[in-house]
Amino acid sequence: MQVTRELFDEVMVPNYAPSSIIPVRGEGSRVWDQNDNELIDFAGGIAVNCLGHCHPALVAAVNEQASKIWHLSNVMTNEPALRLAKKLTDATFADQVYYANSGGESNEAALKLARRWALDNYGKEKDQIIAFKQGFHGRTFFTVTVGGQEAYSDGFGPKPGAIDHVAYNDLEALKALMSDKTCAVMMEPLQGEGGLVSPTDEFAKGVRELCDEHNALLIFDEVQTGFGRLGSFFAYMDLGVTPDILTSAKALGGGFPIGAMLTTKDIAKHLKPGTHGSTYGGNPLACAVGEAVMDIINTSDVLDGVKVKEAQIRAGFEAINAKYNVFSEIRGKGLLLGAVLNDEYQGRARDFMVASAENGLMALVAGANIVRFAPSLVIPEADIAEGLVRFEKAVAQIVNA
Ligand code: PLP
Repeated sequence: MQVTRELFDEVMVPNYAPSSIIPVRGEGSRVWDQNDNELIDFAGGIAVNCLGHCHPALVAAVNEQASKIWHLSNVMTNEPALRLAKKLTDATFADQVYYANSGGESNEAALKLARRWALDNYGKEKDQIIAFKQGFHGRTFFTVTVGGQEAYSDGFGPKPGAIDHVAYNDLEALKALMSDKTCAVMMEPLQGEGGLVSPTDEFAKGVRELCDEHNALLIFDEVQTGFGRLGSFFAYMDLGVTPDILTSAKALGGGFPIGAMLTTKDIAKHLKPGTHGSTYGGNPLACAVGEAVMDIINTSDVLDGVKVKEAQIRAGFEAINAKYNVFSEIRGKGLLLGAVLNDEYQGRARDFMVASAENGLMALVAGANIVRFAPSLVIPEADIAEGLVRFEKAVAQIVNA
C-alpha cells in the first residue's frame, strides 16, 4: 500500500494538521523522510525525544523487556515499575509514584488526588483549584479546564467546577484569590505551550508560601520541564521551591508513552485502593524504557551538557538576529527555547516552522509569535551547528520573500 500525506485527510480525524513530510526513520538528532531527505531535529517530538531517535540504550531496553514480558495490568506489579519508582523517589522529594501513560493523565491523577486529600482532611468546602492563564496541562476535560486557554476547553459542554485562573507571575492576583477554600495551585515551573515564560524567583517562592499559609497543595506540572530539559533533573531543583505533587511524562519515556505522578507518603495515602487507576499505567515495557532514560539523563554529564548546548544555540540565534532582525528576544531555559518574533513578523511563527522544514530543520511553535526549539539533550555540537545553518536559511527565505 502506498502511504501518502493525502491518506491522512481520508482516514484520520481532522484534529491535527500535520506537515506534508512523513518521517520514516531517525538516528540521534537526524531524521529521514519517505524520499530519504534528511532533517535535523530541533523539535524532539515536542520535548519528548530527550536522547534523540533510536538511542542504543533505549533500543536495548525495549528489546530486552520485549522478549521478557510486555504487560500485566495492575492486578500484579512488575520489576521495571518498582525499580523506576525507587530511582525516581531516591532522586526527588517524593516518596511514592503513580504511573500513567501521558502528561494529561498524570495531571488528571494529581488533580483528583488533591481534591481527595482536601476532602478527607478539611471537608467538601475546600475544593478550589487555581491555575495560570496560558498554562497547559493536557486535554482530558479536567486538565484542559485547569489549563488557562479557553480556546482549548470551550465547546464541550459543562466544565468541571471550582477552577480559577490568574496571570502567571502575578503574585498579588494569586494572593487575592487564595483562601482556606483553596485545595491546590497547579503550575508549570516554566510555561511551555503558553510561550516559554519563566517564573520570577519571587513568584515561585511566593506561590509556595501562599500554599503553606492556606494549607493548599502545590502541584508542579513538569511534563515539559522535567527530565533534564532545563538543565536540572527536575526544574523545581533549580528554583529552590519544592512542590507537594509533581507530574512527569514526555522525556520520561524518551518517546515511549509513560507518565508519572510523584508525591509524599502523607498525601499519597488518600488514593486508597480503587480510588483511581489505569490499565496500562506502570506497564513493564514503558517502565523499562523509563529506567534506561533516567540512568542516562540524571547524570552531571548530560545535565551540564544541556547548559553548554543552550549557550551554543543562543549564540547562534543572536548571530542570525544580528543579520536579519526578526526576533525581539530569546526566551526559555536549557534546551526549551523560544525565539519571539518582533513586531514586523507577528503571527508568522508557523511560516518560520514550515520554512525550517523546507530547509531540513524540524522546529516547533508556541502560539502564533514564538518559534520553539526542544532538541535532544544529547544533540552533538556538529548537529547544532548544522541546524543553525539551516535555520538561518529559513529565516533568510522569509525575510527576502
Ligand atoms: N503538561 C504540560 C506542561 C505539557 O506541555 C503537556 C503537553 O504538551 C501536557 C501536560 C500534556 O501531556 P500529554 O500530551 O502527554 O497528555
